Amino acid sequence: MSSLLIKDVDVIVTMDKNRNRLKGYSILIEDNKISKIACDIDTEVDEIIDGSNYFLYPGLINTHHHFYQTLTRNIREVQNVELFDWLKFLYPIWSRLTPKAIYYSTLLACGELLKTGCTTAVDHFYVFPHSQPDNIIDEQFRAAQEIGIRFHGSRGSMSLSEKDGGLPPDEVVQTEKEILADSQRVIEKFHDSEPFSMQKVVLSPCSPFSVTENLMKESIKLARSYGVQSHTHLAETKDEEEFCQKIFGMRPLEYMEKVNWIGDDVWYAHGIHLTDKELEYMAETGTGVAHCPVSNQKLASGAAKVPYMLENDVPVGLAVDGSASNDSSNMILEMKAAFLMHRLIYGIDSISAEDVLEMATIGGRKNLNQPEIGSIEEGKAADMFMVNKNRLGFAGGLSDSVSALVNTGDTQVVDLTIVNGEIVVRDGELVTVDEREIIKQANLISQKMMNS
Ligand code: ZN
Repeated sequence: MSSLLIKDVDVIVTMDKNRNRLKGYSILIEDNKISKIACDIDTEVDEIIDGSNYFLYPGLINTHHHFYQTLTRNIREVQNVELFDWLKFLYPIWSRLTPKAIYYSTLLACGELLKTGCTTAVDHFYVFPHSQPDNIIDEQFRAAQEIGIRFHGSRGSMSLSEKDGGLPPDEVVQTEKEILADSQRVIEKFHDSEPFSMQKVVLSPCSPFSVTENLMKESIKLARSYGVQSHTHLAETKDEEEFCQKIFGMRPLEYMEKVNWIGDDVWYAHGIHLTDKELEYMAETGTGVAHCPVSNQKLASGAAKVPYMLENDVPVGLAVDGSASNDSSNMILEMKAAFLMHRLIYGIDSISAEDVLEMATIGGRKNLNQPEIGSIEEGKAADMFMVNKNRLGFAGGLSDSVSALVNTGDTQVVDLTIVNGEIVVRDGELVTVDEREIIKQANLISQKMMNS
C-alpha cells in the first residue's frame, strides 16, 4: 500500500456539506483514498509533504471539452464569427485529424487541465474522419491513462450531413449503424463502472443540427442499457433554436423530451437559451448543465441563467469547452469568468466565489454521477490540488482562501496536483509526461493540419 501524508495544511477547503475550511489539519492518503483528516497524524508513510504554506482544494471537475481543438485554436479567420460559421470553417480542418493528433491533443489538454487544478475531465469527441481508423478515439483513453487524469471519455457522433439538412460535411459524418456499433465497442472496452473508476464512457451525439432523430433515441437506449451517462450540446445559440423550430417544429428542450433525453443520467453543454419553466423542469428531473462561460462569451452565444439554475437546484457543472472556442483549458480562469459574468448581468448577490467553486466540484460530481470525487472528506478519492499561498498574486489577500483562488492573480499554474492518490503535478510541472515533447508534437501536427 502506498501512503502520503500532507502535514499541517494552512487551509483545507473541503467543500463538504457544511463547506468547512480546516486550519492546520493534516491529510493521510492511503492508495487512492483520503483515509484520515485530523490535526495530528503520526504514522509511518512513504512520503511527507509540508502543507504549512499551502491552501488545499478538491480537484476541479471539467464537464465538457473537445481536446482535439487544442490543435486548431486561435485561428485568425474565425476569431470574429458566431458558432455556425465558426463550425463550417473548422470542420474541413478537423477532417485531417489522425490517431497521432488525437493522442497528442489529449496529452496537451490534460496537461493544461492538471496544471490548473483539474483532476477529472470529460472529453466530447465527435469527429471521425472517413480516412482514419474507426477506433481513433482509443488514443484518448491511452493518453489520459498515461498522464494520470481521471477521464470520462465521451463517444460523440455526427450522423446528419450537409446534404441531409445538417451542418457538417460528409467526410466527418458516420452512419447510425457505424456509430451505435462503435459506441457499444467503446463502452465494452473502456467503461469501468466501479467506484473510484479512472475511466468511464459517456455517449454523446453532437447536437440537434448534426445528428439524426433516430440516433438520439437509439443512443440513449444503448447508454441506459449499460448504465452510462449521456451528454450533448443544447440551447447554445439562437441559430440552434431557430433550426429546431424549423426542422422539428419545437424548442430544443421539447425535442430532448421527444427523444427521451431527460433525466439525471443526462447533462447538456451550455443550456443558455432555456426559459425559467424549462429550467424548473430540468431541476425536477435532475437533468444537468455544463456551464462554459469563456466559450459562451467568446462566441457571443449568450449567458446561461446560472444563478437561477443554482437557486432552483438544476445540477450545474463548470467546463472550459473546446479549445477553439476558449483557447485555453484553465479551470481556475473559468471560475473567474463565471463569477464576473454573472455578477455583471444578474447583480452583486447573484453568485459568490464559493458558489463558483461548488459548480467546479460538487456540480461536476452530480453531472458525472461519480459521488467519490469533488470534496475533501475521509473515504473520498484522493483528488486534490495545492497552491503555495506565498506568491505575488495572493500577497495582501490571504483572508479568504476560496476567493483568493477564484479572484486573485496567478491563475495559470498550481504547485501540486494529486489524482487517485498519485502526484501528477509537482512544483508546478507535469511529472508523468515530457511537456516539451508534447509542445513540439502539437505544433508540428497543428501546422500540418492547417497547411494541408
Ligand atoms: Zn462543445
